[in-house]
Amino acid sequence: MQKFNYHNHTYRCGHADLDMTDEDYVLEYINLGFEKMAFTDHCPEKNKIDLRKNMRMEYKERKEYLENINKLKEKYKDKLEIKVGYEVEYLPGEEDNLKELKDESDIIVLGQHFIYDNNKNLKFIRNGETLSDEELIEYAHYIEKAMELHIPDIVAHPDLYIYTKKSFDNTCIEVAHIICKAALKYNIPLEINISNIYENVFNRNKDLNLEEKIKKVSYPCKDFWKIVSNYNVKVFYGIDAHHKNQVLSFERTKELANTIIGEEIINKLNFIE
Ligand SMILES: [Zn+2]
Ligand SMILES: [Zn+2]
Repeated sequence: MQKFNYHNHTYRCGHADLDMTDEDYVLEYINLGFEKMAFTDHCPEKNKIDLRKNMRMEYKERKEYLENINKLKEKYKDKLEIKVGYEVEYLPGEEDNLKELKDESDIIVLGQHFIYDNNKNLKFIRNGETLSDEELIEYAHYIEKAMELHIPDIVAHPDLYIYTKKSFDNTCIEVAHIICKAALKYNIPLEINISNIYENVFNRNKDLNLEEKIKKVSYPCKDFWKIVSNYNVKVFYGIDAHHKNQVLSFERTKELANTIIGEEIINKLNFIE
């Protein structure tokens, strides 16, 4: 049973539970018998590129964030191993700024939510967005490049890109292979992100039955993890917690992830301890 979660957000990003303090999360994990956790809130941007509101802390908030978590690290060191870092996106030209964030962190999660389009505008990987096949391959190369530059320690929701496709087509297959090959080469674990299951099954869709709720889940994507299972890539579950209930529902949500991916594939995956 996995006793860690390396993917936690805080109120600072503006779209997580505003009433939960950092310490509240620590206490929940201790209660649940977890051994390790990491705060990896959405990184601030030195050069503002992602202009969406309530997405990430301000650059000047970093100091308070790091100091507060470092205090908790010390306070609870006998009960829980706590790490602090960021969830970042790779963008060409931002390498030095990403290095700066990495240097002040224990852990960096790559959560690639966008790429540059041909006009250097952000093209988002999100529900309802369509990407051309070229853009999707470019997306895979961003993830590969980030690993090559040793930016992330782990890659979050590597199957997020299924949002942009109606079915798992040949381009999706190619993207999966690019990500797996890089993860294997640079020894970077891939996260089975369970936040979309939580959202669809435990938070939204109250009027649907369980089977209908599961049909609404975009990722984890079975076809993607089937490809991963043919590589010896390390994998783990990530809660991507923005709310306390996600932490409390970890076991149930994880079981649903296993159901969605299927026992045969799950048994072949190389889970880290
Ligand atoms: Zn978030
Ligand atoms: Zn996240």
